[in-house]
Amino acid sequence: MSDETVDPLKRVEEQLKRCVKCGACRQNCPAFTAFGREPAVARGKVALAQHALKNDIDLDDQTYLAMSKCLLCGSCVDKCPNDVPTDEIVIAAREALAKRRGLTTFHAAVGHVIKNRSRMKMGAWMASLLGPLFFKKVPATSGLRLRFPMPFMGNTRHIPAIAGKPFIDRHPEVIPGEPGKPRIVFFVGCMTNFVYTEIGESALALFRHLGCTVIIPKDQQCCGLPGMSGGDIETVRELAEKNLAEMERYEADYVMSACATCSGALHRLYPLVIGKRNPELKIRLEALAAKTVDAAQLLHKLGLDPAATGGGEALRVTYHDPCHLRTRGVTKQPRELLKAAAGIDLAEMEGADRCCGLGGTFNVYHYGSSMTINNAKSDAIVATGAEAVATGCPGCMMQISDGLKQHGSRVEVLHTLQLLARGLRAKK
Ligand code: SF4
Ligand code: SF4
Repeated sequence: MSDETVDPLKRVEEQLKRCVKCGACRQNCPAFTAFGREPAVARGKVALAQHALKNDIDLDDQTYLAMSKCLLCGSCVDKCPNDVPTDEIVIAAREALAKRRGLTTFHAAVGHVIKNRSRMKMGAWMASLLGPLFFKKVPATSGLRLRFPMPFMGNTRHIPAIAGKPFIDRHPEVIPGEPGKPRIVFFVGCMTNFVYTEIGESALALFRHLGCTVIIPKDQQCCGLPGMSGGDIETVRELAEKNLAEMERYEADYVMSACATCSGALHRLYPLVIGKRNPELKIRLEALAAKTVDAAQLLHKLGLDPAATGGGEALRVTYHDPCHLRTRGVTKQPRELLKAAAGIDLAEMEGADRCCGLGGTFNVYHYGSSMTINNAKSDAIVATGAEAVATGCPGCMMQISDGLKQHGSRVEVLHTLQLLARGLRAKK
C-alpha cells in the first residue's frame, strides 16, 4: 500500500496521545492573543485533531477555520512539557481537511502559481510593469499601497515593490571562489529572487569576501511552504523533489539560504512532512537537511569579521527573531555578528522572539488578526528608539514593514546581511 493513502492524522496518532491538556501552550501563542479562544490555541487544535481522527466530528467549516488559525510559529512546541509537535499536527490536520473537502479556491490558486517557476516569473514581470495601475507609491516610504480594495488584500496594506529583474537572472550559475574555500549552493527563495534582491546581492558580496564559491542553481523552485499552509502537501512534495534534484546537481559543502522560511523548509519540514511519507526520498532529504544552513549562521561559523565588512556609520539597530530560525536555535549568531559590526549599536526589543504575525497564508486569510499580533511587534520596535530593525526572513521584513508604516514609523526594515555587507556594497 502506498503511504500516500494513509490518513494524514494517523501519521501523528502517537504525537496526539502525548497531550495531557495542561494548557502551558497558551503562553506566547500569537493565535490565542489574537482570537482569545480555546480552538485557536495548541490544546484546542490537538483536541480537534483527536476527534477528527476518531471520526466523531465533521470536518466542517468550523474545523477548517480553527485549523487555519495557526501561524505554525512553534512557540507552543517550545513550551510543551510533553514535546507535542503541534505544528506537525496542524499540518497533518490541514492535509486531512484538504483531502476530504478539497483545496479552497485560494489555496488551489496558490499551488497553481508556486508549482510553475516560469508562471511566477511572468507574474512578477507583469506586476513590475502593471504595478502603477494597481498601486500608488506611499510618500516617504519605499512601499506601495493598493489604489482600490482587491480580494484578500485590504487597501491599507503596504506592499514592497517587485524587482525589475529577478536576482537569479542577474548572475551566472557558478561564481568561482578561492581554492580550498567552501563551496556553497545558494537557495535564493521567491521573496529574495523577485522582491528583496538586495538580500541576495548582500549574501553574494559577503560569501565572496570570504573566498567561497557560490552556486546559484537556475532551476530552483519555490520551497513550497505557502502550499503547506493550505494542506496542499502534493504541491509541497512536487517542489521538494524538484529542489532536491537541483541542489544535488552540485558537490557542495553547504546549502545556504538567507530566507528563514526556505531554510526551515529544507532543514526541518521536508524530512518531517515529505520524508515521513516517502521512505525513498527520506534519506536524500535528510542528507539535504544536514547541509542546509541559514546565511548568518554560516557567516558566523566561517568566521566573518563584521568590523571589516560593515559600513561604519552609526546606526541604532534592534533584531527580530524569525520563528523559522528561533525554532532551530539560530538566535545568538545574527546578534553576535551585528554587535561586532562597525557602527552598529544593538538594542534588544521586548519580545524579540515573538512571531510578527505573518504565518504564511495566515496573513492573507486573517489579515486583521495578523496585524493585531503585529501591533505588539511594532510597539516593541519603536520603544527601543532604533533607526532600523534587522531580521533574517524576507517574509518577516514584509510584515514588519507593513506594521511600522501603518504606525506612521520611519524605522527602516533590513535583512541582517544588508547591515553586515554595508561596507562591501559601498566599495563596489
Ligand atoms: S502544552 Fe503540550 S501537553 Fe500541554 S496542553 Fe499544550 S500541547 Fe497539550
Ligand atoms: S504554532 Fe504558534 S500559532 Fe500555532 S498553536 Fe502553536 S503557538 Fe499558537
